[in-house]
Amino acid sequence: MAVPKRKTTPSRRGMRRSHDALKVQAYHECGNCGELKRPHNLCTACGHYNGREIVAVEI
Ligand SMILES: [Zn+2]
Repeated sequence: MAVPKRKTTPSRRGMRRSHDALKVQAYHECGNCGELKRPHNLCTACGHYNGREIVAVEI
């Protein structure tokens, strides 16, 4: 079995983990209803995209 030659130091471990943090997801205001939506995605609240209604949302 392959085994690491040296113990990973707390410093090296921290350097590796410096890239592990989760990024905040991007959100943008809907141009039609003002609800927060993901960019380049249909608005889940009103069904609009690019100024047009794509999906009819039942009220
Ligand atoms: Zn909307």
